[in-house]
Amino acid sequence: MRDHFELRDGDAAGRIGELSIPRAGVTVETPALMPVINPNIRTITPARLESEFGAEILITNAYIIHRNEELHAAARDVGLHDLLEFDGAIVTDSGSFQLSEYGDIEVTTEEILEFQREIGSDVGTPVDIPTPPDVSREQAERELAQTATALADAETVDTGEMLVNAPVQGSTYPDLREAAGHQADETDLDVFPIGAVVPLMNSYRYAEMIDVVAAAKRGLGRDAPVHLFGAGHPMMFALAVAAGCDLFDSAAYAIYARDDRYLTVRGTEHLEDLDYFPCSCPVCSARDPAGLRDCDGEKRERLLAAHNLHVSFAEIRRVKQAIRSGNLLELVESRARAHPAMLDGYRTLLDHVEQLEREDPVSKGSFFHLSTESARRPEVRRHHERLARLDAGDRVLLTEGSKPSVDAYDAVWRIVPPFGPFPRALSGTYPLTAETPERTDRAAYEAAAEGIAALAAANPDSSFVLTHDGWSKSALARVPDGVAVEARGGCRGNGDDSADADDAHESAE
Ligand SMILES: [Zn+2]
Repeated sequence: MRDHFELRDGDAAGRIGELSIPRAGVTVETPALMPVINPNIRTITPARLESEFGAEILITNAYIIHRNEELHAAARDVGLHDLLEFDGAIVTDSGSFQLSEYGDIEVTTEEILEFQREIGSDVGTPVDIPTPPDVSREQAERELAQTATALADAETVDTGEMLVNAPVQGSTYPDLREAAGHQADETDLDVFPIGAVVPLMNSYRYAEMIDVVAAAKRGLGRDAPVHLFGAGHPMMFALAVAAGCDLFDSAAYAIYARDDRYLTVRGTEHLEDLDYFPCSCPVCSARDPAGLRDCDGEKRERLLAAHNLHVSFAEIRRVKQAIRSGNLLELVESRARAHPAMLDGYRTLLDHVEQLEREDPVSKGSFFHLSTESARRPEVRRHHERLARLDAGDRVLLTEGSKPSVDAYDAVWRIVPPFGPFPRALSGTYPLTAETPERTDRAAYEAAAEGIAALAAANPDSSFVLTHDGWSKSALARVPDGVAVEARGGCRGNGDDSADADDAHESAE
């Protein structure tokens, strides 16, 4: 058990946690956003990040400071906190990025960790190898071995109270990411950045990003604080948190501002294309896009950077509130509708439903069935697993309708898509209190039918009768042969083959 990271509330694999950073004397509530500070260029000063945006933690590059004579001397002299004028926690990177860009750097893990400790960093980083996506397996394995050596070297350095990052690499090979996660978890290091995912995010490969995160999480323990290194776009915070990431860093706010790009939770806009601001932060309240375009270059960059930060911090708060309220996956569903690649990311997250289900709380506020993806949520899977353990009785009616007046059954169970059947006594329990649309989609009926199949398999000696309201052929095809099926009459708008339901009903009998 790591004593510097405490988990509070959870939703899917997302969580609100408390990361204690002893050297800074602060506790950072996660999910947290760490603005990236380039020690040479301060678009927005660290003091302002703290006072105006509420930043509790930021990240800067120790290697840049190490290499710059002036900064090096100043950092040694007054320390990193005074140099940056920031009282919160400061994380430092090691130059790994420079290593991956230029192929060579001038420091070893021992040297850079000692330097980070000396200048007063609160969380230091060894020199790992950020292996990009799509490299050969041989390269990924070789570089992962070098990263493992860096982590082992880091363990031997006297880092005092400074926490130390244990980066998880492995390119786009899930098994290597999982092994790397496991290896990092075995060290006595403290924070776990998932590295080299920026190329995936930049090319909207959110599905593969989620596979990488899920694999790393399988290797890491549940109590490991996870940093999605280089992830700074607010459109993917909810998705990444739902996959189990706790820390994000944003260089995006400044880099995008330099290019006149305006961040939103639905994607990136170019300032020149905007007629209206979909935001009420101080920057956007005080002017319209034309007014911002009229500002001179430096001022415009500063104002855009401020907006980009406001929208990013607001999204982190929204994600935290969603975890508290138990509707993080509803937020992910709505974010997934902003871009097809985000939808791929969400669908991929649901491919890992077994992993999500292990962490997802048993009871939450409300389950909103909002899309065909809702039928694949962990709550549905958990209900089906529960059905496989329930004793049903001899003769059971499963119905979407009310309890019949005749006493022909030992039990009458309700059916609610996408969950399927359950004893009426459970009607008031989560997630069976779900809000579902009147015009439920086919995926929900198919999932309900799979629930019936799970129940029937667990009760081979029971006889079941299903009465349904115009289920689709595809749903009825999932109902096991031994279950008698009766249509209650009346069709709902549940897909283009609902008119064929009666045919399916006859063939099922
Ligand atoms: Zn704004």
